[in-house]
Amino acid sequence: MAQVTETQVLDALRTVIDSDRQADIVSLNMISGLVVKDSNVGFSIEVDPKRGPQLEPMRQAAEKAVQGIPGVTSVTAVLTAHREAPAAPSKPAAAPAAGGKALVPGVRAIVAVASGKGGVGKSTTSVNLALGLKANGLRVGLLDADIYGPSMPRMMAITGKPASADGKTLQPMENYGIKVMSMGFLVAEDTPMIWRGPMVQSALQQMLRDVAWGELDILVVDMPPGTGDAQLTMAQQVPLAGAVIVSTPQDIALLDARKGLNMFRRVDVPVLGIVENMSYFCCPNCGHRTDIFSHGGARREAEALGMDFLGEIPLDIAIRETSDDGQPIVMSRPDSEHAKVYREIAARVWSKVAGPQRGTPKIVIE
Ligand code: ADP
Repeated sequence: MAQVTETQVLDALRTVIDSDRQADIVSLNMISGLVVKDSNVGFSIEVDPKRGPQLEPMRQAAEKAVQGIPGVTSVTAVLTAHREAPAAPSKPAAAPAAGGKALVPGVRAIVAVASGKGGVGKSTTSVNLALGLKANGLRVGLLDADIYGPSMPRMMAITGKPASADGKTLQPMENYGIKVMSMGFLVAEDTPMIWRGPMVQSALQQMLRDVAWGELDILVVDMPPGTGDAQLTMAQQVPLAGAVIVSTPQDIALLDARKGLNMFRRVDVPVLGIVENMSYFCCPNCGHRTDIFSHGGARREAEALGMDFLGEIPLDIAIRETSDDGQPIVMSRPDSEHAKVYREIAARVWSKVAGPQRGTPKIVIE
């Protein structure tokens, strides 16, 4: 069967008109983060957040238009808040980084996943976000910078030690199609982690520079929890295209999420948005939904702070069991509602780092 091409997708999307602005959504530069992988297509439609709720029919029309292309089996379209022009450069990781940050050759964008404190589900989110990006057709790496409590070996079900062919660079480990590096591969689990600031920094630098990551579209960095000096230094040292902040509803009430936002602002890293984890409770027996911790706070907080809201993940035992068993839900239950939400969050994140999809330029004769 013939490959589906980006041009075909953009042509199909040109038939979708934004009725408020009387033009098609491609010419209006609303399409971003387009990925075509085999017969699967994903993209975001950037909209003014105020119009978001009214635009669901447009999103569906866009999916339908692409679904009509022969050979397309699945389409995921998400609405994302469009970015303010100066805040987000279109080629974040490609520009020479300021302040002596070393770029990682071959890696298009590095995105940090951070939290105001531990235990909010930052690692679980990192893993499922990485798998969601992969499911959307991207080449993905995962760097466990949570050096104090590395959880990637367990969550990604990887054992053993990374090999080095030349004695200088390490080969990343790999599972579920994702390249992974973690301090947990290099030291035994019961080794006390008495890392001091400078050691932590050099460990991170090494895991970025001295690992043969190869060609990646995106490298997800699971940051250590908190917003102290060590985290600040790390955020400063890595050429980050952006950061995702994971929060629970209580955490938002306690303003920890705000500390995370301020930390990245201090080091000029764009905050791509906030994910509300453990947002509401799903009863495993009857499927009933309970808003234990006044759900919805993250969306309001994000709006108040001018941040994008990336999505909400419920508190569900299936998420805990799968991530703690090394079978993250996006990989092990791709048809579940939760997996879908993670893939949508991944699409939003990617659209923000990949920038608008310009399509083929048109020649206009006036
Ligand atoms: P952090 O990296 O912030 O310390 P983890 O990702 O390790 O947090 O999560 C802490 C615990 O909570 C883990 O046992 C994890 O499986 C569980 N967990 C995380 N998110 C959810 C969720 N949405 N529903 C249920 N359990 C979750």
